[in-house]
Amino acid sequence: MDACKKIESVMADIEDACRRVGRDPSEVTLLGASKTVPPEVIKEFYRCGLRCFGENKAQEFLAKYEALEGLEIDWHFIGRLQTNKVKYLIGRVSLIHSLDRKPLADEIQKRAQKRGAVQDVLIEVNVGGEESKGGVEPERLKELYEYARGMENLRVIGLMTIPPYFENPEEVRPYFVRLRELRDQLEEEFGEKLPHLSMGMSHDFKVAVEEGATIVRIGTRLFGERT
Ligand SMILES: *Cc1c(COP(=O)(O)O)cnc(C)c1O
Repeated sequence: MDACKKIESVMADIEDACRRVGRDPSEVTLLGASKTVPPEVIKEFYRCGLRCFGENKAQEFLAKYEALEGLEIDWHFIGRLQTNKVKYLIGRVSLIHSLDRKPLADEIQKRAQKRGAVQDVLIEVNVGGEESKGGVEPERLKELYEYARGMENLRVIGLMTIPPYFENPEEVRPYFVRLRELRDQLEEEFGEKLPHLSMGMSHDFKVAVEEGATIVRIGTRLFGERT
């Protein structure tokens, strides 16, 4: 399958999932999780209409950002973020998916202020409580949100999660539900809108869309297995 066919096939699955639960497919953004994918290949997908790409390493992101400058790519950062790498992202990515601790919020605020920018972020939540994964524990989400929401140059617009892996995507569903409920609780408690839920990867995005995902992060289904 060529790049355009692959995008069409994923979009068709997103549309089907939306139809099943009465959602409008235009609410869902397809993000190409392009780690390890060379710039030439990203360009092919861009030519087929894909605009949103997410990288998970700052160095790799920067190299691709420079190689593809001039294209109207909407870059996101989706990986674990070291504080000393924040400066490379501000002004280059529209959304950071992985705010998970106060010092990182401080650094984003500081760097965005320096540039006179407002950086949109999602708070990453470790809904599965897995040691190996980033994200704030659900019990500490409220505290982190409360800390970050007052910052002038940082805007929290939703939540993100990387749930535990299960072969059967139905077993992942409760984690997506959990993320949505956590979002709903924050909205209610603070009277603020958190419109975005970044959840769902190649093997479980249909379920994620059924449960309210507004951004799905797709690598393998678009670009093939990573080696
Ligand atoms: C790689 C990656 C994905 C995509 O994973 P696939 O299973 O290949 O679709 C999604 N989210 C994050 C944070 C990633 O690093």
